Amino acid sequence: MRTITHWIGGKPTAGSSTRTSAVWNPATGQQQAEVVLANPTDVDEAVRAAAEAFQQWSQSSLSQRTKILFSFRELVNARIEDIAEIISDEHGKVVSDARGEVQRGLEVVEFACGIATLLKGDYSDQVSNGVDLYSFREPLGVAVGITPFNFPAMVPMWMYPVAIACGNTFVLKPSERDPSASLLAAELWAEAGLPDGVFNVVHGDKDAVDALLDHPDVASVSFVGSTPIAKYIHHRGTANGKRVQALGGAKNHAVILPDADLDYASDHLVAAAFGSAGERCMAISAAVAVGPSEDLVAAVAEKARAVRVGSGRDPDSEMGPVISGAARDRIVGLIGTGQSQGAQLTLDGRDLVVPGFEDGFFVGPTVIDQVSTSMDVYKEEIFGPVLSVLHVEDADAAIRLINSNPYGNGTAIFTSSGEAARRFVRGVAVGMIGVNVPIPVPMAYYSFGGWKDSLFGDKHVHGPEGVSFYTRAKVVTARWPHVEHDNAASLHFPTAR
Ligand code: NAD
Repeated sequence: MRTITHWIGGKPTAGSSTRTSAVWNPATGQQQAEVVLANPTDVDEAVRAAAEAFQQWSQSSLSQRTKILFSFRELVNARIEDIAEIISDEHGKVVSDARGEVQRGLEVVEFACGIATLLKGDYSDQVSNGVDLYSFREPLGVAVGITPFNFPAMVPMWMYPVAIACGNTFVLKPSERDPSASLLAAELWAEAGLPDGVFNVVHGDKDAVDALLDHPDVASVSFVGSTPIAKYIHHRGTANGKRVQALGGAKNHAVILPDADLDYASDHLVAAAFGSAGERCMAISAAVAVGPSEDLVAAVAEKARAVRVGSGRDPDSEMGPVISGAARDRIVGLIGTGQSQGAQLTLDGRDLVVPGFEDGFFVGPTVIDQVSTSMDVYKEEIFGPVLSVLHVEDADAAIRLINSNPYGNGTAIFTSSGEAARRFVRGVAVGMIGVNVPIPVPMAYYSFGGWKDSLFGDKHVHGPEGVSFYTRAKVVTARWPHVEHDNAASLHFPTAR
C-alpha cells in the first residue's frame, strides 16, 4: 500500500504519528493508498520550519519572488495533465474537469506574478512643512491553509500563491481524502527554486487542524469547507488571536424567468448541477422557476438523463462518482426524503450502476420537482448530483426566497431582460452573482467569497482582498529636519503646518 507523506522543510517526511487514513479510488471503490495523519508534534515541526524560513523569505526582494512564481507557473502548466489525472483518481471527477480546476488555480499564480505592482504603497509629498507620508504592506508570518476535498488543486491555489508572493511562508493542510495533488505542488515549488520551509504540507484531520489553530507561531488561517467547520475554525482561530477567513458551504439558486431562452437555460442548468457530480461549492442545487414551467422541467430532465456517467479516466464520461461510499449513502438517503416529504422524483439516479465499475461510488443525475423550502432536500447542502426545482409566481418572490436561505455563496438568473437582471443583482444578498452565467466564479484578479453562512471573516480570497488578508499596513510620517525650517516641537496634538 502506497503511503502519502507530509512535506516539511523542503522534503517528504512521514512524521511521528502512527495514525493513517485510507485514500479511495471513488470510481473502483477500492483503497489505493494511505495518508499519514499528523499529530501536534508533526504540526509543530511544520510550523517551526515555516517560521524559520520566514526570517529570510520575508526579506527577499520582489524580483526574486516574482522569478520563482513565474517558474512555478511554467512547471504547473507543463504538468497539468499529470495533476489532472492525480485529482481524477482520488476525487473521481473527469480528467477534463480536473484540468479546468488546475487552469483556474494557475490564474491565481499568474495574478500573484504581478506582486510588485500589487504591493505598491502610497506616497504623499509635503503633507506638512518638510514632512512626507508613505505607506506599505508587510507579510504576516506563517500562513495556514485548510482545504476541502472538492478542489484539491484549485482551492489551495486560491491561497498559497498570494500568501507566498506577499512574503509569508505557508503550511497547507489539504483534505485527507485527496491529498496527493498538494505533494506534487510542493515538489514543483522546490523545482522552481522556492527556499526550503516556505511551502509545507501536513496531512491530517481534526487533531492536525486544532494543533494549527492553537499554534502560537501561526499568524493567519484560510479555511474552505463546510459551514459547521468554518464557524468552528473562525471561532477558535480568532480566539487565539489569528487573522481568519473561513469559507463555508452553499445552496446556490438559479432563477429562470419566463423570458429566458429555454434551450440555453436548460443546457446550463444541467452543466451547473451535475458537473463534478454536484460537488462544487458553486454548483446550482436549486432551480427556481418563475411562472409556468413544465417545458423547462421536461427539458432539464431530458438533458440530465443524457449525461454520460462513468470513471473520471474514461474520456467519454461527463460525470464521475462522488467522493466516498458514505457520501453516496447520504445523497441517496436525502433523495429518499424528497420523495417521502411530497416532492416529485422526475429523474432518479439512485440505482445507477456503471458497467465495469460496479463497486464505484456512483449516483446518477437526479431531478426533484415541486420542492418546498421546508423539505430536507432544500434545507441540506446535498453536495451531490441532485437538482431541486422550486416554483414561484414572480421574480420578486424568487429574490425573497433566495434571501431567506441562510447561505449566500452564489446565485444566477436566466433572462433576456436587462431590467429584471439588474433588479435581481441589486436585490439578492449573495456574494457572487451570474447573469445568464450559472457558475459565476470570478477571475483571479477579483476576490472570491460568499455572504452570510458561506463566509466567516472580513476578507474574500485571492484578488485584492487576498493581498490585503496576507499583509498588514505600515504608514510612515517622516521629517528630515533642516536648520532653515521651523522645526520647533510643541506639546499640542500634531497638525499640519
Ligand atoms: P469539510 O468541512 O468536511 O473539510 C474541510 C477541511 O476541514 C478538511 O481539510 C478537513 O480535514 C477539515 N476538517 C474536517 N472535519 C474537521 C473537524 N471536525 N475539525 C477540524 N477540521 C476538520 O469539507 P469537505 O467535505 O472536504 O468539502 C465540502 C464542503 O466544502 C462543502 O460544504 C462545500 O460547499 C464547501 N466548499 C466551499 C467553498 C467556498 O468557496 N465557499 C469551496 C469549496 C468547498
